[in-house]
Amino acid sequence: MRQSRTLIPTLREVPADAEAKSHQLLLRAGFIRQNTSGVYSYMPLANKVIQKIQAIVREEMEKINAVEMLMPALQQAETWQESGRWYTYGPELMRLKDRHGREFALGATHEEVITSIVRDEVKSYKRLPLTLYQIQSKFRDEKRPRFGLLRGREFIMKDAYSFHSSAESLDETYNDMYQAYTNVFTRCDLNFRPVIADSGAMGGKDTHEFMALSDVGEDTIAYSDQSSYAANIEMAEVAEVAEAKHEEMKELQEVHTPGVKTIEELAAFLNVSPADCIKSMLLKADGRFVLILTRGDHEVNDVKVKNLLNAETVEFASAEEVAELIGTEPGFVGPVGLHPEIEVYADFAVKVMANAAAGANKADYHYQNVNISRDAGEVTFADLRFIQEGDPSPDGKGTIHFAKGIEVGQVFKLGTRYSEAMNATYLDENGRAQPMLMGCYGIGISRTLSAIVEQHHDDKGLIWPLNVSPYDLHILALNMKNDAQAQLAEKLYEDFKAKGYDVLFDDRAERAGVKFADSDLIGLPVRITVGKRADEGVVEVKIRKTGESFEVAVDELSDFIEKQMKSLSSQA
Ligand code: ATP
Ligand code: MG
Repeated sequence: MRQSRTLIPTLREVPADAEAKSHQLLLRAGFIRQNTSGVYSYMPLANKVIQKIQAIVREEMEKINAVEMLMPALQQAETWQESGRWYTYGPELMRLKDRHGREFALGATHEEVITSIVRDEVKSYKRLPLTLYQIQSKFRDEKRPRFGLLRGREFIMKDAYSFHSSAESLDETYNDMYQAYTNVFTRCDLNFRPVIADSGAMGGKDTHEFMALSDVGEDTIAYSDQSSYAANIEMAEVAEVAEAKHEEMKELQEVHTPGVKTIEELAAFLNVSPADCIKSMLLKADGRFVLILTRGDHEVNDVKVKNLLNAETVEFASAEEVAELIGTEPGFVGPVGLHPEIEVYADFAVKVMANAAAGANKADYHYQNVNISRDAGEVTFADLRFIQEGDPSPDGKGTIHFAKGIEVGQVFKLGTRYSEAMNATYLDENGRAQPMLMGCYGIGISRTLSAIVEQHHDDKGLIWPLNVSPYDLHILALNMKNDAQAQLAEKLYEDFKAKGYDVLFDDRAERAGVKFADSDLIGLPVRITVGKRADEGVVEVKIRKTGESFEVAVDELSDFIEKQMKSLSSQA
């Protein structure tokens, strides 16, 4: 493509309201333009990248027999009402009415539509398994659209859905997808981790999120430094600690602790460490009150509490509720002498605490020398805290570290959640109707583009990995008014196109400085500059990633470029 004929509106200034590096660079390099909050146009260069990512996705889907189709973005409310999600999805679902007052949603995801299609078209176990996918714009009225394409309100997703007559078959497709996603993100040159994720209130079903490591990521990943273990921080299990060294139980003692309400204040007041204090929290799980205990230096993990109690929502009890139930302020609540009706759940680490400090359920008082087995009523012990950096890895190999991640994809075993609600059944070998087992699998195509940029850039601009670069080669003619330069550049442009390369040719009547700056900003992997030595038949080749540059004679250029491309593609 001739640069004079396309639209690459580069900017010299960093746009003021763009926080994330990828958002800034994609705007500056002319890849995207915002229409309104969270809604973008993919300008010609971004469109090329989107097409390359999609081509990789399509190849990997083909390998595992997933079949492409295209469903409507405009979906009637009735389909969503059947699954129940019309009422539970919340304000992220964009809803609208047609001229007759009938209600619709813009597709945020397509479980409902695909389930209704497969329900109507597939009746026998003989037609299963079946995996269908599409690549399409999705709509979600996100609370905080931000970071450009990373969290949009309209974005491009690949979504796949699989249907099965047995759990083994679902497992097989899930594993195939897991591998396909690993291949996709590897080919996109992303530094990523598949992590164990939360399956939400449905509970107990397998799901992994694919996380591109990046500081702008909104999720924290706990990973082992010595194994492939990685989980979302809320899902990382903490192993039960072995019994601590035996310490003699001292006599329980009430201490006057006026105004001492936080763990830090308590530890300072008693001159002990927070790890010697018990944190006691009254929580409301689906309306039922429970007391949760953790060690003072640990954080309670609400997802673990939710899963343990099988609850949809878990929140802190209000100060009024604490006063009414326990008769004091939250800062003085504790496990000793508590009303027996209140269930007590303690993190494993509390079990091995000896002679700890805890609230006395009385204003301005705490207990010292609390030993949970001796002093509290019935307590259920479980893994209830967030893992911390430095904890041993749950798989027994190595130590836990934290990293931030961008969720670029997710694979999920849905089970019969949708098929039961929407009556999607098949007839088994014995002619009996059974609900289909389902899986769903998403890749954020537009988010992946931004994640690649987050990981591949420098001060001067973007640095595209060859596999997803908008073009392979950038040819710059420094002075189009110079005949030798213009002719040689034109010839190289035609030659390299004929060899099958995707070439961007800067044939504009711009100054050399502008061309170099734009070229660095756009960040194609290899640049050929036709300049002063054109009449001697010598050009400059520069590798964007390494900054290496070479003077190459034109008759050796083709082999030279081929070698460079080979080496760039083997690095991905
Ligand atoms: P998030 O937790 O980031 O809101 P999600 O878990 O709700 O995402 P899914 O329903 O799993 O998203 O959608 C599949 C994929 O679509 C995600 O893994 C992500 O890559 C992408 N995606 C989801 N929401 C957005 C968005 N607002 N903008 C861009 N991509 C998105
Ligand atoms: Mg997700």
